[in-house]
Amino acid sequence: MLKLLCNADIYTMDRSNPIVENVLVENGKIVALNVDNKIEYQKVDLEGKTLIPGLCDSHLHTVMYGSELDKIDLSAAKSIADLIELGKNHIEDKDLKKDDWIFGWGWNQENFEEDSLPTAKDLDEISKNYPIVLKRECRHVLTANTAALKAAGLYKKNIANKRVYKDEKGNPNGVLCEDAQKLILDAAPKTTVEDIKNYIIDASKKYLEYGLTFVQSDDLADSSISFHKTLQAYFELADSGKLPLRYNLQLRLTNEKDLKEFIANYKTGNYNDYLTLGPLKIWADGSLGARTAALRESYNNLDSAYGELLCSREKMENLVKIACENKMQVACHAIGDRTIEQFVEIVESMQEEYTDNLRHRIIHSQLADYQLLKRMKATGINTDIQPAFTASDWEIVENRIGKDREQQSYLWKDMIDLGINTAGSSDSPIEKPDPIWGISCLVSRKDELLKPEFGWLPNQKVTVQDALEIYTKNGAYNAFVEDKFGQIKPGYKADFSILSQNPFYVKEDKLREIEVCNTIIDGNLSK
Ligand SMILES: [Zn+2]
Repeated sequence: MLKLLCNADIYTMDRSNPIVENVLVENGKIVALNVDNKIEYQKVDLEGKTLIPGLCDSHLHTVMYGSELDKIDLSAAKSIADLIELGKNHIEDKDLKKDDWIFGWGWNQENFEEDSLPTAKDLDEISKNYPIVLKRECRHVLTANTAALKAAGLYKKNIANKRVYKDEKGNPNGVLCEDAQKLILDAAPKTTVEDIKNYIIDASKKYLEYGLTFVQSDDLADSSISFHKTLQAYFELADSGKLPLRYNLQLRLTNEKDLKEFIANYKTGNYNDYLTLGPLKIWADGSLGARTAALRESYNNLDSAYGELLCSREKMENLVKIACENKMQVACHAIGDRTIEQFVEIVESMQEEYTDNLRHRIIHSQLADYQLLKRMKATGINTDIQPAFTASDWEIVENRIGKDREQQSYLWKDMIDLGINTAGSSDSPIEKPDPIWGISCLVSRKDELLKPEFGWLPNQKVTVQDALEIYTKNGAYNAFVEDKFGQIKPGYKADFSILSQNPFYVKEDKLREIEVCNTIIDGNLSK
């Protein structure tokens, strides 16, 4: 049936036709714009609100986010004592069974009075009986209690792995970082396909509340879940029409064997209207906060600390080559400039051999100076940025990399001006999956307390128009679905987000107060 969306400020993100009066939809598609509203259509009166294309988050982790909705939130901990308190409170409310493990996330020693990492001894104060694993805010570091160390066979074990931190006696102290986290997580109970489906559904409900209609989710490699299981969960939900919004899967296949197995058994591209598959996701370095992002020059005041490449040049080259041979896009997680440069060099070196425009992407691109950005543009590499990281990181950037390099980081506006297709993401659960907050960070470059006063590196602020495109059509482009999503145009899917206020008319500092009233997917209101 024909439905007319009307009585709204409507922004199309189509630069040739940016503002329209009304939108006519039928069978889940947009069929016409600016129709004569005297004709008797069924009207959806939007009561003066603002209608934009459905918002897109171009990189997040749904299974992790969904699973964490039920775990201990430690983001408010201001000391190790707080962390213990939060842990104890969580356990009190739970009906724990014999083999249960307890998980939490979100602590950050930067926020602690003592500025030191919590260890197994601290977590033992929460419980000595149940294994406990608490992840740092960045998820690149975790602390396990003694029961978890015992379950994983690491207790008092002499282990030569520098990512397993030691106490004064040389025994693991409970802190593990990067891939060493697997040593603990592999011992935890295995996640089932049913669990994964529940995580996806729980996360999806939140996404819709935040106004998202399309997310690009990086889920496949989790230490306790095989990638087949995660794919099965998505396929079953897609087949039964139970995915509440559009998903694109970023395929984190961490080695050649998994990648080849994927290629032999599955296909990238369209699965159905609610699910698309691809790119290959490569995880290549850590985070700036944990000083694990790989840098070309050392961390500030730490002469020998350069961070670490989690994917060697040889391995990365090999994965990119296999992807290119199979016409697969590659999305590379790269925060530090050494990692970004390595990926750019590899793509540069393959340009002559592989001429398809596979729209390779760098997820994060945080410490990419102007020269590196120019090379990204020249190589046709796009990017997926996390605007909320400016709010979370601006106070630590100078401490980590010094004043000069600070000026060469998080250069969102330069990316736009250079014509790099730049899509917005939350990296949720690292940040809340809130595109309005992302848009606010892009435009104001201020944190939750509206600091710094004029915005951090204010010459990198982007316009409201660019910010909206970053969260709509640019996201669609990076996932090869720009002919269906991300703009309000005839022939496009009838997916929209409805905003309480017009972002073009509110002050920069008030953007964050805009509420998402509803979303529309396939022409139907979500609530
Ligand atoms: Zn991520």
